[in-house]
Amino acid sequence: MSIVDKLLCDNLKALKPYESARRLFSGGQDWLNANESPFANAYDIDHSRFNRYPDCQPASLIKGYAEYAGVRYDQVICTRGADEGIELLIRTFCTPGKDAILITPPTYGMYAISAETCNIGIEKAPLCEDFSLDVDAMLKWVGKVNVVFVCSPNNPTGTRIAPQQLTAILEGFADSALVVVDEAYIEFDEQFSTAPMLAQYDNLVILRTLSKAYALAGLRCGFTLASSDIIQALLKVIAPYPVPEPVAQIACQALSEQGVAQMRSQVSELNQQKAWLKSSLDKFPSITLVGDDNANFILFRCEQRMELMAYLVEQGMLIRDQSKQYNLHDCLRVTVGNDEQNQRFVALLTTFFQQQGISA
Ligand SMILES: *Cc1c(COP(=O)(O)O)cnc(C)c1O
Repeated sequence: MSIVDKLLCDNLKALKPYESARRLFSGGQDWLNANESPFANAYDIDHSRFNRYPDCQPASLIKGYAEYAGVRYDQVICTRGADEGIELLIRTFCTPGKDAILITPPTYGMYAISAETCNIGIEKAPLCEDFSLDVDAMLKWVGKVNVVFVCSPNNPTGTRIAPQQLTAILEGFADSALVVVDEAYIEFDEQFSTAPMLAQYDNLVILRTLSKAYALAGLRCGFTLASSDIIQALLKVIAPYPVPEPVAQIACQALSEQGVAQMRSQVSELNQQKAWLKSSLDKFPSITLVGDDNANFILFRCEQRMELMAYLVEQGMLIRDQSKQYNLHDCLRVTVGNDEQNQRFVALLTTFFQQQGISA
């Protein structure tokens, strides 16, 4: 028995690493698989403080995000992507081998992966057929879970949570669990943010990121918004220097007035591209649109999903297979790219269906 086999934690033995499409298929030129922005914006870097450890939570960055999100300074913590926020919440509020989280599949995969790596139980209350929350099924877990993860707009369905449903969940779990609303895509659906509800609900936590609308997936910068008590608890657990100095500098520029204006104009361009892509996909007889389009991706069902994926990979075009998710058989998710990428994607679909003998 190798030293690794001997020592590896029991809860990790069956675990496989997160399967991003880029881990599965190397190469490719058009990446419409990870909901990244097609824009790559320029930033200035000042190297004069690189010899010093950064502040744990750089004040100008926290202030910048609090202003942008319309919350108080003490209601914000900055993490290495929203993904680190997910793990911090689990590590801070769940005891390994004892507690559990609640998730609502089909949804983002990292809630379950983080719970598994931390040896935390995972309970499920699947979304209804129309991808709304199954509130009754969720409330059956009151007292049995510590953290509830919901996602709005939801990845990969693009649907948003109705405010009445969210209120019911927040109130139902008021004395027993944190309700985490993952708003990674909120800039594409801005008026539906839950942030104004922070003042009212002590158990509400909101996850945000610069990875999607802000076009900074490479930066690894996310934010968790919550009551100052919750933020203080997370600060006990976070690493001593989680925000590298260059990250803080770039994030501050992204959150400046000019940066926010640029983000909004790029979001509005992507929303137009999304409308074109959606109507183009809708014209293919072999494609059925699934869910909604409140984020920067489109989910669709195609019976020839395996052949289509293989063809696209061969052509250097990566999208994301979501067919293993609950209620999403034969579903694929495509990120809205720039005009050229979206047109190429539609052209490849046309060729594919012609080759299959199904006219487009
Ligand atoms: C992309 C994504 C994240 C992760 O964001 P990072 O800040 O890049 O870690 C979190 N939640 C959802 C729903 C996402 O789609």
